[in-house]
Amino acid sequence: MLAERIGSSQLAELAAQGASLSGSLHAADLPRVHAVLARGAPDGTLAARVDFSGGPESFPVVAIEVQGVLPLVCQRCLGAVAWPVNVAVTLTAVPGEAATQELADPFDSVLLDSDGTLHLRDAVEDEILATLPLAPLHADRRDCRAGAVAGESAAAAQVHRPFADLGTLLGRGGSRDGH
Ligand SMILES: [Zn+2]
Repeated sequence: MLAERIGSSQLAELAAQGASLSGSLHAADLPRVHAVLARGAPDGTLAARVDFSGGPESFPVVAIEVQGVLPLVCQRCLGAVAWPVNVAVTLTAVPGEAATQELADPFDSVLLDSDGTLHLRDAVEDEILATLPLAPLHADRRDCRAGAVAGESAAAAQVHRPFADLGTLLGRGGSRDGH
């Protein structure tokens, strides 16, 4: 399990050492991700890796990679669609909004708490949510549940296709910048 939060002194230490953390993430522990998953489908488990380093602006840099598959709800048939998750983003951890002005790319940043704590799992969850489609659909209309009616429970949903078939649809992953 990936750490939920990292205190300021530990963050500084991890960045100075260029340390890495890795662990699994269960969708059940990511409430905002869990809320958009298909009911009754097996919950997704994601593999996460976080690499810490010191940034050019002297703020800690957190490189986040997350991979796995989540059962999203197809907006055509309300069945589960196995959606590949592939996050790769590099964030600069800054102590406040003002500090983002000092960054070359203020959008690739994560705000620390007033006491310098990094809410790591929240940051990872934000990045996962940012990559999920607003209206996921089965790649092939024939994979939609036969006779599905809007509003019907998706409890009986089956995952019809391996995610590899859907990977080509995604022509995008997280952004990776050059820090
Ligand atoms: Zn469908």
